[in-house]
Amino acid sequence: MVFGVAGVPTNYKGKFVNLFDWLRGMGLNGYEIQCTYGFKISEENRKIINAEQKNGMYFSMHAPYYINLGSLNNAVVGRSKSNMKEGIELAKLIGVNRIIFHPGGGHENTIEGRKRAIDQLVDAVNEFTSEIDMGDVRLYPEIGGKTASLGSIDEIIEICKRCEYCYPCIDIAHLHAREHGSIQTKQDLIDRLSKIKREIPEKFKHIHFHAYTINYGDKGEIKHLKHGESMPNGDEGKPNLDDFVAVLKEMKIEPWVISEALDTQELGAKYMHDKYVS
Ligand SMILES: [Zn+2]
Repeated sequence: MVFGVAGVPTNYKGKFVNLFDWLRGMGLNGYEIQCTYGFKISEENRKIINAEQKNGMYFSMHAPYYINLGSLNNAVVGRSKSNMKEGIELAKLIGVNRIIFHPGGGHENTIEGRKRAIDQLVDAVNEFTSEIDMGDVRLYPEIGGKTASLGSIDEIIEICKRCEYCYPCIDIAHLHAREHGSIQTKQDLIDRLSKIKREIPEKFKHIHFHAYTINYGDKGEIKHLKHGESMPNGDEGKPNLDDFVAVLKEMKIEPWVISEALDTQELGAKYMHDKYVS
C-alpha cells in the first residue's frame, strides 16, 4: 500500500531531507519525483532518496512534460527516446522502478491520426527498451487529461499490450476530464478498471494511480482542484475519492496512489490513506 504526493507540497516549508518525516507523520509513504525540467537529481537528493527507501518510503518518477513519443516531429521523438533512456538509467541508479510519462500530443486528432501516433509511440518504446538493460524498471503511460492528447483508456491498454515494459498509469481525474465528467458513480470506476483488468490482467497487478478532483470543459482538463474544493458552479468535485477508495478495496487492488490535488496534495493523499485503512 502506497499513498503519497507528487513533488514537494506547497504547504511544506522545510528542507527536502526532512520532508519524509513530515509525510510519515500523516501516514504517507509515497513520493513521486517530478522531473519536470529533465531527468536530473542532485547527488545530495539521491542520497536522501536512498536513505528514505530504507525507511519505507516508495518512490516513483514522473518524466519531463516535453517528452512526446507520439509527436509528428521526428526530432522531438528522437530526443524523447534518448531522454527516456537517460531516465531509465537514472531510475536504476537510485533504485526507482516506476517511470510515469505522458504519451503526448501534436498528432492529427482523427481516428487515423491517433492510430498512427500510437503505432509510432509503440515502435519508439520498443526500440529504446530493446537498446538498454531495463533492470526492473517499468514504464507507465498516463491517461491524458485533454480530449486531444493521446492516452484514452483504450490507448493506454493498447500501449501496454504491445510494449513489454509498459504498465497502466490511471489518472482518474484526467479520465473524468477527457470523458467530460464520466466518473459519476462507483460503478463508472469499476467498469473502467474491470476492463483494464480483463484486457491486461498481469499488468493490472502493478497499476499506478493519480487521484484528485478536477475542473474540466469541452476540451477536457482545465485545472486540478484543491482537496475538498467545489467545482466553479458549486457542484461537488469529482471523481469522488470515497468511491475511489471503496473500489480499490472491493476490487482488491494493491494501491499505489499519488495525489495531485492543487496546493493540497498531502491533504488529498492523507484523506485517501485514512479512508483506506479505516
Ligand atoms: Zn502526469
